[in-house]
Amino acid sequence: MKFNDTVFNTIDNGIIILDKNLNILAWNRWLEIRTNILKDEIENKNICKEFPYIDEKKLKRKVKAALVTKNPSYFNVDPHKHLIKIKINSINANYDFMQQDVTIVPYDLDKEIVCLYIYDKTALREINLKLERANKELIDLTNKDYLTKVYNRRYFNEYSEKALELAKRNKQDISIIAIDIDRFKKINDTYGHNVGDEVLIEVANIFRSSIRKSDIVARFGGEEFIILLINAKLDEATTIAEKMRVKIEDTIIKVENKEVDITASFGVATVNQKNNETIETTLKRADDLLYIAKKHGRNEVVNSL
Ligand code: GH3
Ligand code: MG
Ligand code: MG
Repeated sequence: MKFNDTVFNTIDNGIIILDKNLNILAWNRWLEIRTNILKDEIENKNICKEFPYIDEKKLKRKVKAALVTKNPSYFNVDPHKHLIKIKINSINANYDFMQQDVTIVPYDLDKEIVCLYIYDKTALREINLKLERANKELIDLTNKDYLTKVYNRRYFNEYSEKALELAKRNKQDISIIAIDIDRFKKINDTYGHNVGDEVLIEVANIFRSSIRKSDIVARFGGEEFIILLINAKLDEATTIAEKMRVKIEDTIIKVENKEVDITASFGVATVNQKNNETIETTLKRADDLLYIAKKHGRNEVVNSL
């Protein structure tokens, strides 16, 4: 198709003119520059043959829609987020290919020809991605412990109150496990504070990997952790605590060419329909039970007074 229009060739988006069989009738300068495919090489060829990753059925349907309704139709470029692959040559980019939006507008209704506008949305998507990440970081910063990345006390308080309310409504038990690493001061004194920090990260990972999605781990203080188990009776929570105890006992933490052997003590308490306790009193009870485990000689789970 003869097209010497200045607008067509200077506009800042891609334009393809297609017939209803998806043959390319025109290909503007913007596309030539970005794809390195000249109009003479591609005109009169079928767009789906040239770019096999395009969803042919969908494109045909959308072209038809524009012609029948005489209105623009938006072509959703999911899942690739592009219609025509255009490589991005920047090391800082999060995307390999230009992110595009595509609109199909009727061009000549009699000849059944449409015009595809391709917009470069990469910059916008990059900003959105950064914003999303910054938002997530901000939420993590408020809710999580900076060292171990488990939840902090503030988040635990908020979450546990809501969880308790729901549990009471559903007539379910909620259990709390209080954990304190044994002789942690000695680990710091023997191996140094950095090794102590690594130990905290490792045990936090053990806790995190031992619970379900609805349960949460929180770091309450230096080497004290609390776990909230949703819909867990005392014996179930005790079994989980015992598994964690064994796992910690069996784990040798390797940091800075040193092998650190650790254990932890556990106290387990449950809110059920009978005792109808609050989170605060249950926490206190779990803590008292933990204290008994320490008095017994440590590396133990205690679940009743
Ligand atoms: P017990 O078996 O009775 O629990 O003995 P413990 O030594 O673990 O108990 P204690 O509470 O006396 O010691 C806790 C130590 O944890 C003291 C403190 O220096 C250390 N600690 C607290 N926060 C951190 C931290 O973020 N990193 C490191 N490396 N150590 C910490
Ligand atoms: Mg302590
Ligand atoms: Mg301790």
